[in-house]
Amino acid sequence: MIGVVVLGSTGSIGENTLDVLARHPERFRLIGIGAHRSAEKLAEQIRRHRPAYAALGDAGAARELRARLGEAARTTRVLAGPEGLLELATLPEAECVMAAIVGAAGLPSTLAAARAGKRLLLANKESLVMSGPLLMEAVRAGGSVLLPIDSEHNAIFQCLPHGTRAGEAPSGVRRLLLTCSGGPFRDWSAEAIAAAGPEAAVAHPNWVMGRKISVDSATLMNKGLELIEACFLFGLTPDRVDIVIHPQSIVHSLVEYIDGSMLAQLGSHDMRTPIAHALAWPERMTSGVAFLDLIKTARLDFRAPDPVRFPSLRLAQAAARAGGLAPVALNAANEVAVHAFLERRLNFPGIASVIEEVITRSTAGPIGGLDDVTAADGEARRLAHACIEERMHAGEKVSVGGAGA
Ligand code: NDP
Repeated sequence: MIGVVVLGSTGSIGENTLDVLARHPERFRLIGIGAHRSAEKLAEQIRRHRPAYAALGDAGAARELRARLGEAARTTRVLAGPEGLLELATLPEAECVMAAIVGAAGLPSTLAAARAGKRLLLANKESLVMSGPLLMEAVRAGGSVLLPIDSEHNAIFQCLPHGTRAGEAPSGVRRLLLTCSGGPFRDWSAEAIAAAGPEAAVAHPNWVMGRKISVDSATLMNKGLELIEACFLFGLTPDRVDIVIHPQSIVHSLVEYIDGSMLAQLGSHDMRTPIAHALAWPERMTSGVAFLDLIKTARLDFRAPDPVRFPSLRLAQAAARAGGLAPVALNAANEVAVHAFLERRLNFPGIASVIEEVITRSTAGPIGGLDDVTAADGEARRLAHACIEERMHAGEKVSVGGAGA
């Protein structure tokens, strides 16, 4: 029996992970689950899955959880606050940790799990973007095995030579191709995109995901973050990672070899495939995902991304090339801008322009240690808030519409 902890269990990846685990009770034991403040949802998950531990990062919500649990509190120990999440990430009873907290908030627990030598199933791409060198070093020092959950990176991992280890450049590889659905605004005009509101931005055509990553998919920043993630995971420079728009989301990514071969991983767009792959690796197990019908799929289209309508991709590529703390500033500014957009304090094009302004004004230099990351993250957040305030005071028009094209 493999003991598993799921960080971010109340989210989209977390729920999919619990679904896959529940299909294999003879193989996995759920040791702990954790989230931020969704006490009601976590209580439901505790009743259904009976983990020995549960944690909420918000201490008040953890108190509410204890009160809600009643009888179940006797079999599930509730941990509270950020320290509770760290304890959950390093429990000796668990050998496998799913890191599925969204955003920078996931960094401390992801790092802790790596240092503790857990098999790390990494969905929280932001932790690699922010502190790739530190996380990869923690993986090496802790003797951890890192398995990517992002469908593109999981696809690449499946297409790489057997025995490839995270962070080491694979031999014989010319370049990686990350596929991208293009998001909900793929075929929209620049004018229609400029007027789009949060409802339209989170309505992804192929994937059901959390709100933040859905907006990242609409701006294509998600692909930019994935490019940075791929460079750290596979030990390659940004010029060897290309992005290709593939509307059907059937080919999840590709590896091009120096002999002219191109290997791709195909499948239904359902995150339970990469989750099951990483849980069972190096074996295979069922995931509950519908099998792909190639005849029904019929066609697969590919085209280049449009950097004019989607400037976030260009900003992420520049941050990847600059390296050091530039991706930290990019990630922090993006989180603040996306949050403001979801709250209708910023219009859609404002997301990229705030990020660009923050990167220009940021003093981010080389990455030394975690303190540098924290400082650069804090500076970029302050700058982003200031940019958004300035725009609001200048009376910049904020769209609340959802106009399509
Ligand atoms: P969701 O928004 O659906 O869920 C986020 C989870 O993180 C929730 O459990 C939430 O808890 C928890 N959380 C948020 N803030 C904190 C905090 N401060 N402390 C502790 N926990 C916190 O996100 P997704 O599941 O969509 O995404 C999770 C991660 O996986 C992201 O990094 C995303 O980029 C990545 N990813 C997601 C994919 C997808 O298909 N969804 C695909 C590939 C990668 P609570 O409910 O209490 O707020």
